[in-house]
Amino acid sequence: MHEIPRSYVDDVFAARLDGAAVREAPGAPATTLRVVGTPHARNSTPDRRYDAGRGYRPVGAAGLPNYGERCVGNASCVPICPVQAKYTPLKTQAAWDRRRVRLLTHAVVSRVLADGNGRALGVEYQEYEDPAAPVATTRTAEADVVVLAAHAVENARLLLVSRLAGHSDQVGRNLMDHPVLLGWGLAGHPVGPFRGPASTSGLESFRTGPARRERAPFRIEISNWGWGWPTGSPGSDVARLLGIGADSAQPRGKGVFGARLRAALGEQIGRQVSVQFLMEQEAEERNRVTVDPRHRDRLGNPRPVITYDLSDRVKRGMAAARTVSGEIFRLLGAEDRTAYAPGPLSPGHFRFEGRGFTFNGAGHGGGTHIMGASRGTSVVDAWQRCWDHPNLYAVGCGSMPSMGTSNPSLTMAALALRSSERIHRDLTESHRPAAVGPPAAAAPHGRKEGRA
Ligand code: SF4
Repeated sequence: MHEIPRSYVDDVFAARLDGAAVREAPGAPATTLRVVGTPHARNSTPDRRYDAGRGYRPVGAAGLPNYGERCVGNASCVPICPVQAKYTPLKTQAAWDRRRVRLLTHAVVSRVLADGNGRALGVEYQEYEDPAAPVATTRTAEADVVVLAAHAVENARLLLVSRLAGHSDQVGRNLMDHPVLLGWGLAGHPVGPFRGPASTSGLESFRTGPARRERAPFRIEISNWGWGWPTGSPGSDVARLLGIGADSAQPRGKGVFGARLRAALGEQIGRQVSVQFLMEQEAEERNRVTVDPRHRDRLGNPRPVITYDLSDRVKRGMAAARTVSGEIFRLLGAEDRTAYAPGPLSPGHFRFEGRGFTFNGAGHGGGTHIMGASRGTSVVDAWQRCWDHPNLYAVGCGSMPSMGTSNPSLTMAALALRSSERIHRDLTESHRPAAVGPPAAAAPHGRKEGRA
């Protein structure tokens, strides 16, 4: 496919920022900025030249699997893409052989079952009818291979409640995310936000360099969606102008309406710019998922209990990012409107070196069943197979021993494909008929055996 085109917002940033040098602190070395396109896992325009045309499929071609339409850039990716240009499991499920694959819904796995030798036997699960009623029937499903694919928090929770994979004492530990610092400003002219996917470009210069020794590295995502994340635009702007928003300057109910409202929205929303700083968070054993029998869900299963904080290294990264954010808005000629206020709706607020910051989670949880080279220090091997259990896999971002600065989805997808090859091999091996026959005749003395 062709690359997803740059947004107009990206072009505005590139025109002002490409080649400009900024300092993350007074006296720090200058870093040169450049707007770079971001890899995407969404369908774009098919490219006839790819694979000598064999992979080319016009949209809607008959007799071919439907991989979804191409991205039309209508800015509603979160939570769902209406034309299915992004991946959705429904596409995979549509390709299943229904005679061989059965999907159980209204069922929650409560425990992984294993024998005394560490071999996984299957799972225990609870099947319920009514999501509002805590009534369930406990059943078991037997398996040759068990694959936990419930993401970082739930995979760890299931291993912990099942008391499995615990030799290294690393299950649930090293919980990481991409703590995000937001910066937002008001440009002096329209920049055309709310068109295209959430982000199509970023600034990558702060991912590397010697400053990493002192502070967390970060990448900078250029948002195509104005102040959508930091302030809830455009809904919050409408509410404010109508005089019904929490931060409305208008007397309640005395807002502007009709043509004046449309003009005000166009004038203000059309100038919104924002950037997101995604920090690399290091693996720390104290950041972890545990279970506590005092905290249970409606079906009686222990809930995950999360212990999570930022290291000073990450906070130093945010301090540098805040300075870079101000420099970016200065170069754009935008008014910096960033404000980090403490309060009950701001759980990520903290003070560091005399300044206030608010961080957000990115939802990129990882690290809770880390991959490694030895059973003593990690939970899964290079195939995402639990060291302690030869037929139990824990797949997903939980296997990542570090997060880097980028979204983990594409790496996670690559790991999943790699694991699926290994799982397929395991299953083929376990179902291979055993050949039983008389022992082969001994080879004559001095004759070399051939290889079969
Ligand atoms: S912008 Fe997002 S929601 Fe819209 S078509 Fe593209 S991928 Fe789908």
